[in-house]
Amino acid sequence: MAAKHQAPRGTRDLLPDEAARWRVAEAQARGVLERYGYGEIRTPMFEDMELFARTSGESSDVVQKEMYRFKDLGDRELALRPEFTAGVMRAYLEHGLGGRSRVHRLWSMGPVFRYGRPQKGRYRQFSQINCELVGSAAPGADVEMITLFVDLYEAWGFANLTVKVNSLGTPASRRAYGDKLRATLTPHAARLSEDSRRRLEQNPLRVLDTKDEQDLAVLRGLPAGLPKMLDVLDAEDRSHWQDVLAGLTAAGIRHEIDNGLVRGLDYYTRTAFEVHDASLGAQSALGGGGRYDGLIEQLGGPPTPGVGFAIGLDRTLLVMEERGLAAEAGETVCVVAMEATRAGATALVRELRRRFRVEADVESRAFGAQMKAAGKSGARFLVIAGEEEWARGEVALKDSKTGEQKAVRREALVAELAGRSSLQGTSKA
Ligand code: AMP
Repeated sequence: MAAKHQAPRGTRDLLPDEAARWRVAEAQARGVLERYGYGEIRTPMFEDMELFARTSGESSDVVQKEMYRFKDLGDRELALRPEFTAGVMRAYLEHGLGGRSRVHRLWSMGPVFRYGRPQKGRYRQFSQINCELVGSAAPGADVEMITLFVDLYEAWGFANLTVKVNSLGTPASRRAYGDKLRATLTPHAARLSEDSRRRLEQNPLRVLDTKDEQDLAVLRGLPAGLPKMLDVLDAEDRSHWQDVLAGLTAAGIRHEIDNGLVRGLDYYTRTAFEVHDASLGAQSALGGGGRYDGLIEQLGGPPTPGVGFAIGLDRTLLVMEERGLAAEAGETVCVVAMEATRAGATALVRELRRRFRVEADVESRAFGAQMKAAGKSGARFLVIAGEEEWARGEVALKDSKTGEQKAVRREALVAELAGRSSLQGTSKA
């Protein structure tokens, strides 16, 4: 019979094997964030709709087409968070963090929601790791952020990543760039999609975000190429940018300048960065971020600079699984008992479970059926509580990989299993 209900379009279930790989990747990320001295902040999954509309930019795709908006029973206009930064900054202001110390390093992890067209690596509920360094305008803050960003991927086993970087300058230089871009693209407008033509009028930088193949062909085919944002930067932005580039080189971060990198939200200023992976096709961004020096002021706070990024965990895990970087489940111990040893084995199973992953029969099945199930389960180690051994205070320990079997005293079993290094961790990294 067909299942009556399916997960809502664009959402998915992570079954235990996949969830286990996620858990390992999440734990690796937490380790890196901890070592960088970032503190976790957990904010609500929904906020006033207005908060996102104000920060992301009314003309951004996220606000115009992708937000899960709803009215609650008290008639409040709310939205499921389409990204973390707005909520984190709202909390930063609400709790007066700026008054407690000048610089704050914050991270969050959890689901975000965007109503887009689902495809590989694009979902309506997906997970992000989000980091913010609030309170410093120094180029060193950008460099720390990008270094942390790369180190997270390295902890997951990605090697030789190249970060794409660009500088978006101040709102004024962005406007100047927008005018240049409009002048460059207008002669080709007839070949652009309707969306891009509208953006060309309202917010020309957004045209660079297009995923439309025809639009991309127009952008790639411009006779003189795209105008360069870097050509319209003022002296201060240019010097900040040079310092960021020098800092990245000093830190050993491979980077390349991408003049078309503008990021999807309006609040970015100066540095913007992304990493991509070709295996994801059009949805190639694994993560990205940038500086948002005007954002906190826009929310009614004092002028406070900040820089941050978001990494999409779904896409990252997809690539890790394709490359065999994701952790496989740790090895399992299977305890097999006989009628006479079943009661005693219950306590043994409980004791082993304080250290190891242990499977054991709960249905009082016959010895032969348990052995068959143990073989099928793929458990690496078999602990057999045979009647005669048990009476002598022993169990048989079998390594199903090598076929080796030996008698082990019950009180020595934990130490014996702990000595097998393959049981110690669940991660390859
Ligand atoms: P953004 O804020 O759009 O730069 O998103 C940051 C990261 O989140 C992206 O680089 C993706 O890895 C991920 N992401 C964004 N949108 C989606 C989506 N619809 N489904 C899955 N991952 C996404």
